[in-house]
Amino acid sequence: MKLDILAIAAHPDDVELACAGTLMVHAAQGMKVGVLDLTRGELGTRGTAETREEEAAASAAVMGLSVRENLGIADGFFRNEKAEQLALITAIRKYRPDIVLANAFEDRHPDHGRAARLIADSCWLSGLRKIETTLDGQPQEAWRPSQVFHFLQEKYVEPDFVVDITDVIERKKEAIKCFKTQFLAPAADNEPQTYISSPAFFDGVINRDKTMGKMVGVAYAEGFTTVKMLGIRSFKDLINNVT
Ligand SMILES: [Zn+2]
Repeated sequence: MKLDILAIAAHPDDVELACAGTLMVHAAQGMKVGVLDLTRGELGTRGTAETREEEAAASAAVMGLSVRENLGIADGFFRNEKAEQLALITAIRKYRPDIVLANAFEDRHPDHGRAARLIADSCWLSGLRKIETTLDGQPQEAWRPSQVFHFLQEKYVEPDFVVDITDVIERKKEAIKCFKTQFLAPAADNEPQTYISSPAFFDGVINRDKTMGKMVGVAYAEGFTTVKMLGIRSFKDLINNVT
């Protein structure tokens, strides 16, 4: 199945926090949108790989994804090396996305920066026909996504552009809340409370979207950076859009 947009992230729930709104906006426009989680989040303080999988599936339904897959590489210990790159290249060639959304290059969790480099490098390498990969015994064709954009997650970095997500902000909150073991945890459950399980963390995510929105005169937005210069075909794309 060919996707228009594939969001690739280190942990199940990264996408929800950082770019769920953008995915839902484009799914509503008829684009085929999917998520590839690199790890199962098995090192998370709260919950297990199994609970995380159920939560990811529930959130996928809320976001209207065409597909959500987990690459199953090692949480905390994956590297930007050949084995991980080949696994990712196989997935990129399978879904042939035009746009890839990826983790931020620098963030609180060290997996995020490593994932950003792994994803960016794999998207490039995936376009080299002499790197041979197979899927279900069949050789795959080379594929390089047109754009790789990096979403903002924990650390603030100045975005290169933002996407208006005002229309879907309530559904974004719903998608995040699917990760019941991770966010807005009840005070009296038997697992340790963490930085991300508090109401303050959840509010911080939504407040970030408000800040991003304010920069362009809308209520809520998500910010992205790009390594490649963005070009447009027409100024029409920028008229009556956001102020
Ligand atoms: Zn993460």
